[in-house]
Amino acid sequence: MSSEVLRPVPRPGVMAIDAYVPGKSGAPGVAKVHKLSSNETPLGPSPRAKAAYADIASKLELYPEGSSAVLREAIGKLYGLDPERILCGSGSDELLSLLTNAYIGPGDEGVFTEHGFLVYKIAILAAGGTPVVVPEKDLTSDVDAILKAVTPKTKIVYLANPNNPTGTYIPFDEVKRLHAGLPKNVLLILDAAYAEYVRRNDYESGLELVASNENVVMTRTFSKIYGLAALRIGWMVGPAHLIDAVNRIRGPFNVNAAAIAAGAAAIEDQAFVQKAVEFNETWLPWLTAEIGKLGLKVTPSVGNFLLIHFPRDAGRTAGEADAFLVSRGLVLRRVAAYGLPDALRLTVGSEEANRHLVASLAEFMKR
Ligand SMILES: *Cc1c(COP(=O)(O)O)cnc(C)c1O
Repeated sequence: MSSEVLRPVPRPGVMAIDAYVPGKSGAPGVAKVHKLSSNETPLGPSPRAKAAYADIASKLELYPEGSSAVLREAIGKLYGLDPERILCGSGSDELLSLLTNAYIGPGDEGVFTEHGFLVYKIAILAAGGTPVVVPEKDLTSDVDAILKAVTPKTKIVYLANPNNPTGTYIPFDEVKRLHAGLPKNVLLILDAAYAEYVRRNDYESGLELVASNENVVMTRTFSKIYGLAALRIGWMVGPAHLIDAVNRIRGPFNVNAAAIAAGAAAIEDQAFVQKAVEFNETWLPWLTAEIGKLGLKVTPSVGNFLLIHFPRDAGRTAGEADAFLVSRGLVLRRVAAYGLPDALRLTVGSEEANRHLVASLAEFMKR
């Protein structure tokens, strides 16, 4: 008998995962903290969503309706989609995992870009697959580079558009060119977590591509503009065969009752969404301009966050800026894990937070 201690061993790939580290939420010793590290909205959710959530308190003994029908119908009505082609999840993170588990196994490859969302890599490794990382151009997804990375082993291409943490996007023409260049058996996942924020004529989330193809799925979330991150609600729309496959592997009650009720109420309050867009349209350009005036490079963003680049000079680095800002109650996101060690990601906050941030960064640059 071997002297080695026998114990359960995870599948290959599992121990290769660097567990996801969420943005910090506290600043030790500081009374007032502005959490600008997780792309949460400063406006909170619609009051209607809060009321629907509160109503569930009297029914907590009941299982949720297992297919999230009420939520799928509300989403379908807003976008003119067949609810049968929609599947809801516990955040779009769950949907990304389910899709990966359904289509990727050992020996298969999943392709995503250099500074792409970290959940893709985790999902691929967890499924036993091989992550393939593709270079970007000017911190932006590069369609030619993605197409070049596709091999007979490729099963999924993941595209966050706009991307987190860079805030950049590719125009719909480019998304279509990417799709046209993919073999028909390769699934294209369009992760449109920030679609509601984008105000560009050449941008589209990809509904049209999903509707007319068998190998495109789009994921969306209630965590960002809808302000319901705590409830974990995501949805996706895709071809019937894909929805059928994922329905077979998801948990039978994967979305909780409060999430279903609050999500459906939130989607019916588009006036609230519009207000959130306008708020972002005011403060995103303001932050971009004011931070630029301090001599720091900012990547132009179309989301509700932006990337600030710091020099490597002692006293001015991203790490030192982070520590300085935390001491002022401003919590930003370090993005070294995304291959961006010299940058911090800033979420657009309340007016007070935004002004405090710019004033504090100015102080940091004058030290
Ligand atoms: C925030 C985010 C998501 C959404 O995550 P949830 O699980 O729905 O909260 C998905 N993709 C990207 C790129 C994101 O930034």
